[in-house]
Amino acid sequence: MSASSHHHLIILGSGPAGLTAAVYTARANLAPVLIHGPLPGGQLTTTTEVENFPGFPEGVMGPDLMTKMEAQAVRFGTTVKVDTVTSIDISKRPFTLKTNSASFTCDALIVATGAAPKLIGLPEEKTLMGYGVSTCATCDGAFFRNKIIMVVGGGDSACEEANFLSRFGSEVLLVHRRDSLRASKIMQDRLLKNPKVKMLWNSQVKAIHGSKETGVTEVTIVDTQTNAERVVKTDAVFVAIGHTPNSMLLKGQLAMDENGYITTQPDSSITGVAGVFVCGDVKDHVYRQAITAAGTGCMAAMDAERWLETQELS
Ligand code: NAP
Repeated sequence: MSASSHHHLIILGSGPAGLTAAVYTARANLAPVLIHGPLPGGQLTTTTEVENFPGFPEGVMGPDLMTKMEAQAVRFGTTVKVDTVTSIDISKRPFTLKTNSASFTCDALIVATGAAPKLIGLPEEKTLMGYGVSTCATCDGAFFRNKIIMVVGGGDSACEEANFLSRFGSEVLLVHRRDSLRASKIMQDRLLKNPKVKMLWNSQVKAIHGSKETGVTEVTIVDTQTNAERVVKTDAVFVAIGHTPNSMLLKGQLAMDENGYITTQPDSSITGVAGVFVCGDVKDHVYRQAITAAGTGCMAAMDAERWLETQELS
C-alpha cells in the first residue's frame, strides 16, 4: 500500500518558479513540500552558463544556480521529494496528488510545472544541448558573437529569436520546413527585412554535427520537396519550434488557453479553484525567463500564504 501524508502546502515543480515559491512560503513557516518532477531543477539544468540572472556578475552555471536555489529553500524548512506526480485531483479539498509510490493531500497547491521546449527529435539535440544546441536565444545568444547561427522554425518564436540573434551572429540562417512562415505578419516583415538573416526554405534539419569539445560545426539539411541533402556550416542551432506547457495532469480541472497554458486572474497566480495557484512557464508563453518565473513564484507564494490565512485549518 502506498504511504499517504497531509501537508498545508505542496509545490509542484523545482525550477526557479517552484523554488522561489518554496523559499518564500518556507520563510512564512508554511513548511512546504516541494515535489521535483521528471526534470529536477527545470529547464535551467539543460543549459550551461547563465549570464542574465541578476547577482552573478561572472555568470553562473544553470545547474549550480538551481542547486543554490534548492539549498536556500531547504534552509528555511522546505521538504523536497524526488518523485513524479501521476495524478492530481483538485475537485475537492483537501487536494490529492498521487505518485507511483505515495499519495499526498494538501490544503493549498502551487503549480510550477514549467514548459518543455519542443525538439525536432534528433539524438544530437540532447547530446549537444548546451554545446551549440539551444532552445533559448535570450539565454545563449551572446555566446555566439560573430559566429554563424542557425534557427529552426517558422513561427513567431523562430522569427523573434532569429532577429534577436542577428545582434550577435555574423549571419543567421533560418531553417523552415515549408515555403511560407507561420509567424504574424509584423514578425515576418521584420525578419525578411533583416540583412543578416538568410532563409533556408523547404528545409528540415536531418543531423547536427559536432562534439562537446568542438561545439556544433555543421548541419545536414534535407530539402522537403526534393529530398536532396546538403551540409551547411554553422556554429549554433537554436531550435524554436514551440513549447509544450506541462499542464496535462490538470486538463479539465483548471482553465487553460488553446495551447494548454494555465490561465490565472490578471496580475496574480490565482486560478478558478480556491487554494490552487500557478506560476512560471506553465502559465507564461511570453517571457519564459528564469527571473520572470522566479518573480511569479514569489507572487504565488504570497497569494497562497494570504489565502491560507483566511482558512480555518487546524
Ligand atoms: P508555433 O506558432 O507553433 O510555430 C512552430 C513552428 O515550428 C512552425 O512554423 C512549425 O512549422 C515549426 N515546427 C514544428 N514542429 C517542427 C519540427 N518537428 N521540425 C521543424 N519545424 C517544426 O510556435 P511558436 O513560434 O513558439 O509560437 C507559439 C505561440 O506563442 C504562438 O501563438 C505565437 O504567436 C506566440 N508567440 C508570440 C510572440 C510574440 O508575440 N512576441 C513570440 C513568440 C511566440 P509549420 O509552420 O510547418 O507547422
